[in-house]
Amino acid sequence: MKGNIGVTSDNIFPVIKKFLYSDHEIFLRELVSNAVDATQKLKTLASVGEFKGELGELKVTVSVDKQKKTITVSDRGIGMTAEEIEKYINQIAFSGAEEFLDKYKDDANAIIGHFGLGFYSAFMVSKQVEIYTLSHKEGSKAAHWSCNGDPEYTLEEIDMKGRGTDIVLHIDDDNLDFLEDAKISGLLTKYCKFLPIPIAFGKKKEWKDGKEVETEEDNIINEVAPAWTKKPSDLKEEDYTKFYQTLYPMSEDPLFHIHLNVDYPFNLTGILYFPKVKNNIELQRNKIQLYCNQVFVTDSVEGIVPEFLTLLHGVIDSPDIPLNVSRSYLQSDGNVKKISSHITKKVADRLQEIFKNDRTQFEEKWDSLRLFIIYGMLSDEKFYERAEKFVLFKNTENKFFTFEEYKTLIKDNQTDKEGNLIYLYANDAVEQHSYIQAARDKGYDVLLMDGQLDIHWVGQLEQKFEKSRFVRVDSDIVEKLIRKSDEPKVELSDLQRESLTTVFSSQLPKLDKTEFIVTFENIGAEAQPLVVTQNEFMRRMKEMSAMQGGGM
Ligand code: ADP
Ligand code: MG
Repeated sequence: MKGNIGVTSDNIFPVIKKFLYSDHEIFLRELVSNAVDATQKLKTLASVGEFKGELGELKVTVSVDKQKKTITVSDRGIGMTAEEIEKYINQIAFSGAEEFLDKYKDDANAIIGHFGLGFYSAFMVSKQVEIYTLSHKEGSKAAHWSCNGDPEYTLEEIDMKGRGTDIVLHIDDDNLDFLEDAKISGLLTKYCKFLPIPIAFGKKKEWKDGKEVETEEDNIINEVAPAWTKKPSDLKEEDYTKFYQTLYPMSEDPLFHIHLNVDYPFNLTGILYFPKVKNNIELQRNKIQLYCNQVFVTDSVEGIVPEFLTLLHGVIDSPDIPLNVSRSYLQSDGNVKKISSHITKKVADRLQEIFKNDRTQFEEKWDSLRLFIIYGMLSDEKFYERAEKFVLFKNTENKFFTFEEYKTLIKDNQTDKEGNLIYLYANDAVEQHSYIQAARDKGYDVLLMDGQLDIHWVGQLEQKFEKSRFVRVDSDIVEKLIRKSDEPKVELSDLQRESLTTVFSSQLPKLDKTEFIVTFENIGAEAQPLVVTQNEFMRRMKEMSAMQGGGM
């Protein structure tokens, strides 16, 4: 039988070939994930009793034939009848692709995932595509479909032994590099490493008598149950570390992990890691990998996770992130916004939890953590509010304080004339060493603010904290600080007390108090400890009362 694929333009294939030029490689992801889907569907049917046959070994096999210039993706899934090919391939797959093309013709660069292109993407690298398939349904006839790159196709009945589907791509001359084993194996590792059905590519190799030889055993390229798909309670600390090493081989172990698991109002799983901070933070950015049902989509997650969290590493998997849309659309999507703020909250909660349960560990890791936390506080108001409880000040003695603790520490000791709290800070412990020493000698505490973002942070805190100023330790304000303990105290002798009592009671006859508290008003930065003789003291008292309009 011959037929015509329901596309409107005369020949849509050249268009699609050009269109996704830079992303040709996704054809393999699309075909392998279709094969995985078909296999999962069969497993589901078996589990509800609708499929009663032998499941057999369920795996997907990818093979390359360099002579014939073909790539074949085979599965033992549900297969298709001829009618199903008509429906799912000729109508749905192609109409989907056409619609997709129409919508995004002008927007090619803005698209992230190119999901939705599906089966059709095979034509990006092929001059001919064939389907050999036998449905799982009892008594089905096997079918062969072939299409050589124009809207015409052939569909015929054939003989075929095993259930399932083989998709055969006849690679066109522009794409022969896809016939290299290394290329295919690289793509499978990139896109299919965590798919839930075993994927075989070639045979395992072994060293024998100094030579590498092929074994009988399949070379399985994926891990079918990656850590993020498991329950946190089934995982140990080392499982998280091991998974981190799978994602980023040879890197230093991370500081903490956060296991994400949401099923309402959107679906999201994943594991995020706080990496050890290197000098060049830009190199660490955008390491989070985005998956959709265990299929790798992209490692560029801007717009999905909040900007400051693009410094984290790990995996996010969500079928609810629209993937075939432009970034600007993504940022305005309701689900994506919810996902983004959920992640922020989770990260803050986790930090809070570690801080509460293991403050020592938190302090030990502070130097690496501070960049995320302070970046987060600066860029996300909600995060600031959450972080207030666990963010730490570090002083020049390497001691750590929460905001509350630090305020308590300095509130009696570091104010200016107007009663503002003065936070002294150094931004270079070595260069400002003598100033730090001088301030500490006076009994003041000095914060160490030598981080990359601290200048901005200080600016932010000055805005946020009421009646507070942040002052560099080498500024002259330090000289003018007031310490409550510096305020002159005068110890009265019994005689002084008696005469004062007389003085005051004569001036304030209606007051029946006989106890007085004499303090010297805040007389400013020039305050010197006051040593007065008894006569001098009486003279001052007289002067004071004269100023109030009375005599003595
Ligand atoms: P999607 O996977 O998003 O449905 P595709 O264009 O990738 O879109 O595939 C279209 C349809 O073709 C699938 O929904 C499925 O019904 C059918 N199909 C594709 N590949 C296979 C396969 N290997 N086995 C069985 N059915 C398949
Ligand atoms: Mg598909």
